Formats: sequence, structure tokens, C-alpha cells
Amino acid sequence: MEMILGNEKMPEEFNKLLRLSRYRSALKETIVGLSGIIDLIDATDKQESQEDKIEHGFDRACVENTMSVSKAILENINSHKLDRLIGSLRVRDQGIHDDVFGVYRYWYPDSKIWSLQFEDMSPRHVNRAEIEIFWAAIAVFSPVLDCKPEDLFIVVLTHELAHAFTQLGADIEGFRWPVHRFDQADLEVVEGLAQYYTHRVLDRLRIDNPTQYQAAFETFENVQKFQPTEYRSHLEWTKESENRPEQEAVRSAMLQFRRHKCRKLMELKEYVNAELKRLSLVDSVN
Ligand SMILES: [Zn+2]
Repeated sequence: MEMILGNEKMPEEFNKLLRLSRYRSALKETIVGLSGIIDLIDATDKQESQEDKIEHGFDRACVENTMSVSKAILENINSHKLDRLIGSLRVRDQGIHDDVFGVYRYWYPDSKIWSLQFEDMSPRHVNRAEIEIFWAAIAVFSPVLDCKPEDLFIVVLTHELAHAFTQLGADIEGFRWPVHRFDQADLEVVEGLAQYYTHRVLDRLRIDNPTQYQAAFETFENVQKFQPTEYRSHLEWTKESENRPEQEAVRSAMLQFRRHKCRKLMELKEYVNAELKRLSLVDSVN
């Protein structure tokens, strides 16, 4: 059966590989466990005193053989780079930001979705929007991405909520980002801002509650590595934060970008850099 994900037609063997990939984490654990057993056998066999010897009862060759079979299967799974393939998928249509595992949809009066579904709605309802999480895709692909479904779910929900937050582009005076203009912004801007705030939110959550959110943060960082460049345009800002705070600069840059009706990532970057420069000058005076 042919499988289509996003706009991409999957390779023919995809279904078979997908089923095999379910065991990726289990195989990794098996290798770790068997490696520990081999160390135990070696340590036990080296004991000179008969009294210190532990009867392990394992055949070393048999354990080694099982470990090499597990490694071979794992290498086979890894060689197809399904995680990269899944991470690289993307879709964008008018009024839709579809991220394979979830979607943020918004409507405005001139959009084709609006005219199909909301003909009777007043154009004043400019912030009509919804989030849909594709739980089946999360359940199927999380083993391929070597993470837990619940951690991937947290990442996806945070990302889609970040789309909602940035699409509003609200400031304290109550101004908003007009939806038709937001829709014209480059994909790098839309996804870059969503990824930036996903990073910031997950980073804060893991600091406050590492037991619950550390794995979600790591899942975000891992999946991000395979995503298209549009999903990584925020990295220079988060990297910058290792040296100095950048959150106020990004927020202010986003609002200026909106006010000046910009579209291009380059323009957003210029605003961020100018804000970082301005804030560091103010900080150095203080
Ligand atoms: Zn997105």
C-alpha cells in the first residue's frame, strides 16, 4: 500500500521499515543490557577465589551472538534514516501550518477555507483558529524518532500553541497582527517564531520540573535536527542566549516586524540584531 505523508510519497519499503522501527528503543536497551551481562561474566570469571565467584550460568558466545544480531538489526533500521525522512516533512497551504504531527489552522474572510466553512461569519471574527493534534502519527512515529509518545505530544502541542501566540502578535496596547498580513509572512518567519517560543517554553518547563519535562525538551532538540531549515531559523537567537538574554529582543523584533508589515526572515533578523545591540548598550550603561 502506498503511503503519503504531508506532500511526500514514501519509499515502497516504508511500511516494512516502520514496523521494524517500532523496536528501535527496545533493541538499544537490549544491547545495553547484554553488554552489561558480558561485563558481568568477564568480571566473574576473573575472580581468583572460588568463594567470590558468582555462578552466572550464561554462555558468553550465546550472549555475544544475540548482541551482534541486535546491533545488525538496529544498524539496518538506522541506515534508512527514517527519523530524518519524518522530520523533514512539511506542508503549507493558505491558512494552514501543518507540522506532520499537528496543525494550527486559522481563518480570515478572504481565505479559501473561510469561504468554504464560514460564509455566514462576520469578517470581524478574524481570530477564528483551531489546533489539531495527529495522535496516530505521534503514536506510530515516536519509536522511529526514539522518544516517548507523551514527550512528542508535549512538543507538538507547545509548537502549535506557539503558532497561535505568534499569529496574534499581541502587544500590551491591544494591537494584533492582521491575519491576512501574518499569512503573507515567509514560512521561515512563521515556523522560526513558533520554534523559538517552543524552545523557550520547554526550557522553562524543564528548569521548573525536570522530572516531567526534561525528556520533552530533549525530544524537541532531537527532532529539530532533522527538520527543514524553516524550522531552525530561530537557532541563532537561542544560541545567542548562552551569552546574553535575548527574549525581550525577539519579542520587540516580532512586534516591529508586524508594525512595519514585513514578510522576510532577513527583516526579522535585522530587528532582532538591532534590539540586541540596543539592549546591550543600555545594560552596559547601567
Ligand atoms: Zn509549525
